[in-house]
Amino acid sequence: MNHFEYGPEGLTCEGVPLARIAAEVGTPVYVYSRATLERHFTVFRDALELAGVADPLIAYAVKANSNVAVLKVLGELGAGADTVSEGEVRRALAAGIPAERIVFSGVGKARREIEFALQAGVAEINVESEPELNLIAAVAAELGVRAKVAFRVNPDVAAGGHAKIATGKAENKFGVSFAEAARLYANASNHAALEPVGVACHIGSQITELAPMRAAFSKMRGLVEQLLGEGLSVERLDLGGGLGVPYFNHPEPPSPADFAAMVGEVTAGLPVRLAFEPGRVIAANAGVLVSEVIHIHARPEGRKFLVIDAAMNDLVRPAMYDAFHDIRPLTRRDGEAVYDVVGPVCETGDTFTRDRALPPLAAGDLVAFMSAGAYGAAMASEYNTRPLVPEVLVDGDRFAVIRARPTYDEMLARDLVPDWV
Ligand SMILES: *Cc1c(COP(=O)(O)O)cnc(C)c1O
Repeated sequence: MNHFEYGPEGLTCEGVPLARIAAEVGTPVYVYSRATLERHFTVFRDALELAGVADPLIAYAVKANSNVAVLKVLGELGAGADTVSEGEVRRALAAGIPAERIVFSGVGKARREIEFALQAGVAEINVESEPELNLIAAVAAELGVRAKVAFRVNPDVAAGGHAKIATGKAENKFGVSFAEAARLYANASNHAALEPVGVACHIGSQITELAPMRAAFSKMRGLVEQLLGEGLSVERLDLGGGLGVPYFNHPEPPSPADFAAMVGEVTAGLPVRLAFEPGRVIAANAGVLVSEVIHIHARPEGRKFLVIDAAMNDLVRPAMYDAFHDIRPLTRRDGEAVYDVVGPVCETGDTFTRDRALPPLAAGDLVAFMSAGAYGAAMASEYNTRPLVPEVLVDGDRFAVIRARPTYDEMLARDLVPDWV
């Protein structure tokens, strides 16, 4: 459920017509619903509680939507943060999320990032390889601290809505094998600068079936039992993110309730605290991208291009993952026309969709890309020197710009021309 619905003034976010935001802030613009973000987080948390999962750490995956205002909304509900860079750790801290709720993941953490995370006192660093473990140990020893580490295991399970977002097969770059995890865990337990706190997995994104998650989580349970059986201390089992959301053309994903029930079953009686890293399921349907039709270019042979002012640099998912986004005109209307919806960027890949049946549109009309709250603004760039797309947060009948569109002067001032040019 989300708070984007048609009202008397067209498509509306909570109490604010999207057309009003477009008029005041300009287009393209991302608009997020606070009530929807809060609802998604609460539904996820309550489902786990109902399934008997006691006091889970729900570390929202910052990379899905990393705006500090969004992080603050979730942090105030008790969310932690799953981060993959120093920048994301800094964002989470800036949003008031305490370090003891921050998980630092990622395949290639640089030495200075590890230093920063250790100094900040994050809850755990998820280790992805043996060389990384050695680096963390060295940095922790230099700083005179004990690094809390969890081992990210690659459970060798296929899952995820697209090859580019499947992360849990042995051929993917993420994590260590079960055998390696057990060996490294035991070694780390004897290292003065390391404190192993648990094990972690994350098998992919936009997962629409429970079976691969159940398979992976069962294997993780086996690993925890093995480590405990060896007399090692295991406090946490981090089951990652990846739960899919409805994108209209995808299979209906399991509900948070079904997901939680499965987790409850698989982990019943296991004496560890569970952690989760949901991103998309919290943020995707809490945001839209609003864009204006620049013109319609009808080719004599029949193809109609709907040229809009948003482009692949603002929303890259269709170009990168062949992702589907429902597109709705802000003003409801009857009839149907078939369009290729394209942006102004000089790339054929800057095509949001082909042969899409939409209500008939004209220059100046506004449209919304639905389900754009996750991996939208966070992946935006200024390619083609297009100003970074702004973001707006709605709360009831008020709204605020939470990231402003940069001016051209600001953009150009970042380039420095040496005096020898
Ligand atoms: C991307 C990512 C997530 C979030 O994935 P979603 O599909 O958005 O839930 C969680 N954990 C890790 C380690 C990730 O890389």
